[in-house]
Amino acid sequence: MFEAIKKKFSAEGNEPTGSTSKPDISREKSAELFEKAKTLFPGGVNSPVRAFKSVYGTPLFIKKGDGCHLWDADDNEFIDFCCSWGPLILGHNNNKVREKVIEIMQNGMSFGAPTALENELAELILKNNKYIEKIRFVSSGTEAVMSAIRLARGNTKRDKILKFEGCYHGHTDSLLVKAGSGLVTFGETSSAGVPKAFADETIVVALNDKEAVTKAFEDFKDQIAAIIIEPVPANNGLLLQEKDFLQFLREICTQNGTLLIFDEVISGFRIGFEGAAGHYQIKPDIITYGKIIGGGLPVGAYGASAQIMSNISPEGAVYQAGTLSGNPVAMAAGIAQLTELLRIGFYKDLNNKTEEFTTAIQRFATARNYKFKVFTIGSIFWFAFTDQETIHRADEIDAGSMEKFKKMHRELLNRGIYFGPSGYEVGFISAAHTKIDLEKAKRAIFESLEVVFSGK
Ligand code: PLP
Repeated sequence: MFEAIKKKFSAEGNEPTGSTSKPDISREKSAELFEKAKTLFPGGVNSPVRAFKSVYGTPLFIKKGDGCHLWDADDNEFIDFCCSWGPLILGHNNNKVREKVIEIMQNGMSFGAPTALENELAELILKNNKYIEKIRFVSSGTEAVMSAIRLARGNTKRDKILKFEGCYHGHTDSLLVKAGSGLVTFGETSSAGVPKAFADETIVVALNDKEAVTKAFEDFKDQIAAIIIEPVPANNGLLLQEKDFLQFLREICTQNGTLLIFDEVISGFRIGFEGAAGHYQIKPDIITYGKIIGGGLPVGAYGASAQIMSNISPEGAVYQAGTLSGNPVAMAAGIAQLTELLRIGFYKDLNNKTEEFTTAIQRFATARNYKFKVFTIGSIFWFAFTDQETIHRADEIDAGSMEKFKKMHRELLNRGIYFGPSGYEVGFISAAHTKIDLEKAKRAIFESLEVVFSGK
């Protein structure tokens, strides 16, 4: 993962150089705010990718969002395909979410005691998701994963975790590890501050590699507590897996008394209400959620069978707690958002809209013989500057191709289109993207591709 983290967050030099086919947008106010921010935060940001290290220019400071539109501090307007990295499946400032949040806030913001809203959100999820029976709310995806790992270890009384190179699971110590050079390796820490002893408990193998997984179970017989995977790996490009591979993981876990964790922080409620588990119809032992579940406020969750969840404190011996867990305002946002997602036809419409959009872009690129492929699932998509038909593993991505993304990102911003500032990040489409927005975005993408491939 370290390589991926490095690739995501620290590409060389982000000064605008070279010509663009359109004048650069003004970033004067954003630049001023960034200068100030640098005196306040490490690197000027509160999360590394926001620093625009992998693309041109100063980060844009966002002032306002509405529907699928964003406005920055310089009053530039954009159609947004980042959607706060996934949570905003209904778009920015959705009426129903906003009104519910305002209504609940009238009664106070936090009590550190149970509220009916927690029950309401949990019921909404559990009644409509056959893959988990009980759930626990936390405040971020990282926290959900960290807790799921502890639960798996507590449940199996084993220590080792197997993860895949190219999957990101938040910044919990034992998962900030990258693969070494062998088929099956102990993780090497991918961040300073992670003790080697922690990384030694994490085995890292390549995605889509049954042989490596089988060997890991031979090498570490009866030691692996859990396999954790993003069933839709969407943090290092979009490394779509075959159902057959996920099914294989299910089986090898069952045979070895190992728990299978699906990290659905991105895919949960995104590619369907039941996420990737529902899409592939594979039942993992534990599922983690984040992003969409909180309607844009900080919420994460993990769920499993009632039996596995009974290990969690105060019922069981695995300790996990949180001052703001189940926060009423965040629950309210989640309830409002998930209620919308349960409307008949919601996912069909969203996914069809995405398919139409990505198919048109692919058709344009293919007709011009561009080395460019759009990978997509549900309402997630990824632009890869490649001619490979499939990319299943992190090491199949050509790092050199990111230069093209960098150029494209700048062209897109100059045409009012906002993408996450790294070629390793996926794009999201929300219910708020209208036909007109998508037509406008398509034209901008076509023009930008022409500039990138003309080598101007
Ligand atoms: N797991 C996955 C699959 C993620 O994509 C992320 C964040 O992008 C996380 C975990 C961590 O979530 P958070 O950033 O809310 O801590």
